[in-house]
Amino acid sequence: MRARMLSTLLATGMLIVAGRAGAQSAFTVAGVTAQPGTTVYGEVQVPARGTDAGTIIPFSIVNGAKPGPVLTLVAGTHGAEYPPILALQRLRASIDPTQLSGTIVMVHVANMPAFLGRAIYYTPGDHKNLNRVFPGKADGTISERIADLITREFIDRTQYLIDLHCGDANESLRPYLYWTINASPAVVESVRQLALAFGMDHIILDNARPTDPAASVYLENTAITRGKPAMTIESGGMGQSDEESIARIERGVAGVLKHLKMRATGPDPLQHAVYLGRNLVINSQHTGIFYALVERGHTVAEGALIGRITDFQGKTIEEVRAPFAGEILYMVGTPPTTKGEPLGFIATLATTAEFPKK
Ligand SMILES: [Zn+2]
Repeated sequence: MRARMLSTLLATGMLIVAGRAGAQSAFTVAGVTAQPGTTVYGEVQVPARGTDAGTIIPFSIVNGAKPGPVLTLVAGTHGAEYPPILALQRLRASIDPTQLSGTIVMVHVANMPAFLGRAIYYTPGDHKNLNRVFPGKADGTISERIADLITREFIDRTQYLIDLHCGDANESLRPYLYWTINASPAVVESVRQLALAFGMDHIILDNARPTDPAASVYLENTAITRGKPAMTIESGGMGQSDEESIARIERGVAGVLKHLKMRATGPDPLQHAVYLGRNLVINSQHTGIFYALVERGHTVAEGALIGRITDFQGKTIEEVRAPFAGEILYMVGTPPTTKGEPLGFIATLATTAEFPKK
């Protein structure tokens, strides 16, 4: 038990920080080592399996000159979500490792087959959603093998994690983030502080994440179920690379670095957030052509007509109505729709009873 605890501490870097105050250590991922005060680039090789092709996971280690926490930032879990990928390039260039305490690990593109294949939701090759197969399998399909290596090389070795998303290439999305509240009180409180430090004002109280580490499903929840504060953020969408969505992520990471005392300066945490409770992805009942009738950020009444689906000659086959009153966080903004896939996402203000007990 004690040996196990020791290896856990070693894996998270906490022992190194606690035991060698004042001296920063080198940090190694997949055989690539960053000395204190340096930034290095590397690639995790995801091996081929039989006729199933392999891929790479490109990453950077920004290893600070002074000791501190390990923070992992992941982009490209969904390959057509571009602002997070571009924000990490900018952050890599702008963060000076000689002025940093602790270590930032950046996963530049988690799902390379989806990025290069311009694919939404699913990985070309196995048609699985990478963010639904965690913690992954070493002998599984390509998405499962990617997830397994992200779990072992990155999540197992970090203390904090942010999975950076946006609306996929078909989703028109207003910014928000997820605050997982069905975890240990210490993790829940730590994530609350990370969320406010990130500075995005719409925060979803998420109490529906699985609690079994062996079936964590989501990337961020793989960290949470291993006792590590983590959150998923959403900024951008519709396959765009707009300045506002990229800058929002840069600002968010700068706020987190200040909060974790990894950098002396940075934006202050948000004082007032809009907390959202009940939320629902509205799925299509039909395959056809989708017309959205409301936009992201609109507030709608229960039963309001928010979209319709036609068949291919133009006849309406489904009226899509709001299941409850709330704010539209994203709407699908392109015509194709397949039965069972998302059309939009709605959430309503959290009630006092929905907040975690202190
Ligand atoms: Zn995503």
